Amino acid sequence: MQSKQNSLRIGILGGGITGLASAFYLLRAGHQVTILEARPQLGGLATHFDFGSFHWDKFYHCILTSDAPLLELIDELGLTPELRWTETKVGFFTLGRLHSMTTSLDFLRFPALSLWEKFRLGVGILYAARIQDGLALEQEPIEPWLVRIFGEGVYKKMWEPLLKCKLGEARKQTSASFIWATIRRLYSTREKGASKKECLGYVRGGYRTVFFRLVEKIQEMGGHIMTSVPVEEMRSTRNRGVSVSCGPLKMDFDCVISTVPSSALAKLTPELSAEYRAKLDAIQYMGMVCAVMVLKRKLTPYYCTNITQDLPFTGVIEMTNLISTEETNGRHLVYLPKYTSPGDPLFNATDDDVWQKFHAALKQVVPDLADDDIEQCFIFRERLVQPIPVLNYSGIVPDMESSVEHLLVANTTQIVNSTLNNNEMVKIARKAAAMVEQIAEEEAGFWPRRAGNGQSVPTKINSGPYVLPAATTTRSSSWHKSRKA
Ligand SMILES: Cc1cc2nc3c(=O)[nH]c(=O)nc-3n(C[C@H](O)[C@H](O)[C@H](O)COP(=O)(O)OP(=O)(O)OC[C@H]3O[C@@H](n4cnc5c(N)ncnc54)[C@H](O)[C@@H]3O)c2cc1C
Repeated sequence: MQSKQNSLRIGILGGGITGLASAFYLLRAGHQVTILEARPQLGGLATHFDFGSFHWDKFYHCILTSDAPLLELIDELGLTPELRWTETKVGFFTLGRLHSMTTSLDFLRFPALSLWEKFRLGVGILYAARIQDGLALEQEPIEPWLVRIFGEGVYKKMWEPLLKCKLGEARKQTSASFIWATIRRLYSTREKGASKKECLGYVRGGYRTVFFRLVEKIQEMGGHIMTSVPVEEMRSTRNRGVSVSCGPLKMDFDCVISTVPSSALAKLTPELSAEYRAKLDAIQYMGMVCAVMVLKRKLTPYYCTNITQDLPFTGVIEMTNLISTEETNGRHLVYLPKYTSPGDPLFNATDDDVWQKFHAALKQVVPDLADDDIEQCFIFRERLVQPIPVLNYSGIVPDMESSVEHLLVANTTQIVNSTLNNNEMVKIARKAAAMVEQIAEEEAGFWPRRAGNGQSVPTKINSGPYVLPAATTTRSSSWHKSRKA
């Protein structure tokens, strides 16, 4: 680790990509860092899962050619040679059938829209993708904007069912900037290269490889990683630091970066001002219930199948149409995600009930799927996933500097005018690290504690260095059912 005169002791809440990337940048800048993660396994929403004969991301992830800060981090970790890029195909389940929507010819053949509607859709997408700043769109509700840009027919036949699927009732509060950001992100995958085809990437081994390398680098630079430490309370200390406690464990830091969801942060920080707390509490999240299948056969030719009919899941993501089946021991890996409100009864339904519902609907999409083709299935749930970009969202986003001195917030709610993705989180991690640097410089004369003054960063409570587990223990929210059993 680089030795540094004004090295601060930084605590980071959360061991997902934002926490680990922030730690990486701060250690590189010469600070002392301790990461506190509530769960036994690092990775947060991008963590991996042991699917039996292989490991892969618990939720599906892809990388875009336009994800510059994320690709830079991957490069800094020495993982660029492990990147793989694939031309992927897009499908639509419309009018009771699967349709390809990959090439211009597919688009012309698409049966759900008239020629005029296709023209409106094409021109509308080109127009939306060229809007540079989505800030003005934050004031427009999503529905009238889509009708204005694409026409009533395209809205009713395409956008409305897609919005119902992706946002449910939350679509009524969501601003047009959400759909603009989604179109722009997807369009950016086709911008590079002459073919204008969709090209998506992944790191060999999935995000597990990225987290392994981040952990290695963090530990090499002297960072501390503590897992199974759900922080319960944070308070300011007399010397302008932040004290963090979890049961009997108590640690003092000069500065803390919280990457945990805003509602969780509000609960564990009693000293927040009423105004700042109100901002944290104002953010609403969509949750995720996702069925994951390990199959003996390929299901569709598409990486992503969009659904414009009323089905219990939001889409079909066939991961092995992006990643090689060498990654999955020859099996096919398919996710059936459902974005929904955290109060959806699906969160309390039994895994069997969720599966029955999803399985019956999947039979409509792929009627020839035999029970014997399904080797295993799993249900994963997370209640706080996607902050809802409501009207004037940037006005309600809490500042990165909270009302508690030296407590910074760097979580997914800080994404403005973009979609939830790791590229945005790497940008936010960089911003948080830069803010710590600024604090360290501005207040250099103040800090009473410095590296080597006898008050070192607390040692790990876990024995030995943190090791990413080879196999995950099944958490109560996940369920593993062997179809053979
Ligand atoms: C279904 C799905 C698909 C996705 N697809 C993509 C994709 O294709 N491409 C892409 O780039 N991104 C994708 N994402 C988004 C990506 O997963 C997120 O951007 C990223 O994981 C967010 O990371 P984070 O570190 O900010 O938050 P999290 O991953 O939520 O990490 C926060 C951490 O804080 C911990 N924590 C909570 N409370 C406490 C506490 N009290 N004390 C200590 N620790 C605590 C949590 O356990 C968690 O590990 C997807 C997400 C989902 C759910």
